[in-house]
Amino acid sequence: MSIRVENLVHIYSKGTPFEKTALDNVSFEIPDGDFVGIIGHTGSGKSTLIQHLNGLVKADSGKIYIDGEDITQKSVNLTKIRGKVGIVFQYPEYQLFEETVYKDIAFGPNNLGFSADETDKIIHEVIKLVGLKESVLNSSPFELSGGQKRRVALAGVIAMNPEILILDEPTAGLDPKGRDEILGQIKRLHDEKGITVVWISHSMEDVAKIAKNVMVMADGKLIMHASVDDVFKNAELLEKNGLSVPQINKVVRKLKEKGIDLGENIYTVEKA
Ligand code: ADP
Repeated sequence: MSIRVENLVHIYSKGTPFEKTALDNVSFEIPDGDFVGIIGHTGSGKSTLIQHLNGLVKADSGKIYIDGEDITQKSVNLTKIRGKVGIVFQYPEYQLFEETVYKDIAFGPNNLGFSADETDKIIHEVIKLVGLKESVLNSSPFELSGGQKRRVALAGVIAMNPEILILDEPTAGLDPKGRDEILGQIKRLHDEKGITVVWISHSMEDVAKIAKNVMVMADGKLIMHASVDDVFKNAELLEKNGLSVPQINKVVRKLKEKGIDLGENIYTVEKA
């Protein structure tokens, strides 16, 4: 399912001394089946942007089309849109609240009107997809490890069978093992189910490893939107946005080891 955003503007606390333009005329298109990473400084507008994509936050101006339907129109059915566009927020485990993992995952499908039998089938499927054992279904979510809780939260969103999955720093606060596991699951979901993935990340290395395309945000503007290779070639721009040259070069070297050569472009910055 595709996303098209045209001239999106979002201003917080408009007309007060705290007025802040969080999104400044942002336009882009994400084709169906894409895997796009969003990077940029804290406060550059990444979270504000993704919350527009299922109508959680309203645009001050601009258009947002999900699969061709303009969701900024008043007549739009937001429940339907939220079934198609699933968002996993930062630290999603704080949104777990039911007594058992089963009930927590069932919450979304129940709300969407699935029958108990359908919901049961979905739960058994998604639990596998996120790499959890059936035995956790009767546990309290609060008894689980950080990585497991994160998987339950992810399962809860996937259970609604979204066609677009949006993730805000899905690996924040996890140890390296938990991080790799969650990223692996997300990659698998994308590969196996063809879900379009939009993923905010602090880790350039993860983005370089997994995403196809990258969007770079700075001060409410989308300053770059290109393939992973092209973005990393533009090291100077990345550096301006808080990513150090050693960091960039580390990623480039790792890619080179894997046979992806970005050429000499990138090193000129280090030499300069
Ligand atoms: P990021 O996700 O890149 O860190 P955000 O979208 O959270 O960026 O924030 C963009 C800008 O909007 C920041 O300057 C932030 O302080 C401001 N902002 C975010 N949420 C709110 C809010 N609820 N009220 C007022 N300002 C906000």
